[in-house]
This record gives sequence, structure tokens and C-alpha cells, in this order.
Amino acid sequence: MPGPRLVLTVDVEEWFHVCGHPEYDVPVRWDTFPSRVVPATERVLGLLERTSSRATFFVLGWVARRHPGLVRRIVAAGHEVGCHGDLHRRANVLSGEEFRTDLLSARAALEKAGSGTVAAYRAAEWSFRSTASPHLATLVEEGFRVDSSLLAVPPIGDASNPTRPVVLETPAGPLLEVPPLVGTFFGRPAMLGGGWTSRLSREARVTAAVEAALAGGDSPVLYLHPWEVDDEHPPMDLSPVARLVHFGGRERVIPRLTRLLSKHPSVSLAEAFPDGGEQRGVAA
Ligand SMILES: [Zn+2]
Repeated sequence: MPGPRLVLTVDVEEWFHVCGHPEYDVPVRWDTFPSRVVPATERVLGLLERTSSRATFFVLGWVARRHPGLVRRIVAAGHEVGCHGDLHRRANVLSGEEFRTDLLSARAALEKAGSGTVAAYRAAEWSFRSTASPHLATLVEEGFRVDSSLLAVPPIGDASNPTRPVVLETPAGPLLEVPPLVGTFFGRPAMLGGGWTSRLSREARVTAAVEAALAGGDSPVLYLHPWEVDDEHPPMDLSPVARLVHFGGRERVIPRLTRLLSKHPSVSLAEAFPDGGEQRGVAA
């Protein structure tokens, strides 16, 4: 039985894939913006190579169609390819058929690019929102084994969502749900596995949360976006709050992850949960 391992996940999208932004969240405009996803993802791949780490890369179908070589590069480096949907739509505003169409379009693009079998999914912006989402069953129906789309931190997530790996019983069958690492930030529940609250938290707090999860028998899950580590990120038109969420503390990401992964090399979701969590004793 493998022990708990640090899991790293990467949402492979462009810097302009910002849910709900009036200028950027417009798919017909996306080909007019400068693409940065290949060099930014290469920087993540370099970090993983230097630290003997692996990861699950949740790639957008839209990205895979434009950069199939990036998908092959991720696979060739020994990493897992997961699905981040096709057009980065919030899943909770899609009908059942809209969600299934987006999911299957994305998987077809990934497989055409050379991903191999795609078993793991992450919705844009944690947008399943709660375990009541009907899309969880759709994932099972379409052959997915693992989901990482539920966040236990309001307002994006629901406080009743799982905070550790758990098998969800959907109407279509079991699905392993693997949430990101959460903790507290100024006394409130907060994401520690990635994003702005993690970047602005003290490094020791994040490291302690990772090590507490490992000591407790759980595999902590971190996440990042290639644009967070892009030295040539284009300037953006953002509100002050959105600017903090997007850019705050981003210069810390590579140095901190280098230290953490040097101590705890990461693995992919497929490696941490090789059988859907059964052998690991993940409770239903
Ligand atoms: Zn995303």
C-alpha cells in the first residue's frame, strides 16, 4: 500500500482565461491575445524536473487544439494529463448536455494530442460548488475516475464540501473526490493548496499544513497555473481586488515550490491514488 504523497496539480490555461471577466472571458477574442501557455508551462516542467517531481496537468481542450505538442511534452516528461474542460466555462451555469458536450470536446482534443487515457477532471474555478452537482455523475458516466473540482472555502466553495480525499457515491457510481489543501488565513477557512491566499500566507504555514496532512495519512493536493510563474505575463486590465487575486505574491511561487518539492517531491493524482483510492482506505 503506497503511503501518502504530496500531489501537485497544474491547470494548463492562458493568462486570459479568467472566469466572468467582461473583456477576457469571451472565447471569440482568445486568439487575438498573445499566447503564453507554452513557455509558462515549460517553466513548471523545469521546476518538476529539477526536484524529481511529477504532477497532474489539467489541460483545457482549447489549449490542446492549439498546442498539441505541449500535451505530448507533458506526457513525455512522465506526468499525467487530466481535463480542465474545453472553453473554461463555469460548470454550475451549464446544463447537463452543455457540460457533457464541453467535457467530451475537451477529452477528444486531449486524446488527439496524445494524452493517453484521461481519468481526472477539474472544473474551471472549482465550479461544481457542492457535492449536489449533477455533473459529478456525468463524469462517472463518461469514464472519469477522479474529480478535483470541489472547494470547502466560501464563497466559491461550500463549507460542507470535503476537505480530504473521499469517495463520493454519485447516481452513476463511485467517484474519488480529491480536494485542494485548505487551512486558515487570518482566522477564516482558506485555500492553502494554491492561489492568492496560499501565495500571501507565510511559507511556514503552508509547509506545516502539507506536513500535517502527510503525517495524518492524507495526500495533500497543491495547484498552480502556468501564468502564475510567467516572467513575461502581459499587462492586464483588472480591478484592484482582481489584481491581488491574479498577481499578489506570484514572485514567491517558484522559490517556495522549489524548497517544498526538494523536501517532498510531488507525484500525480494517478500515482497517489492508483486504484481510485480503495487501497489507500479512502472512506466512502
Ligand atoms: Zn482554470
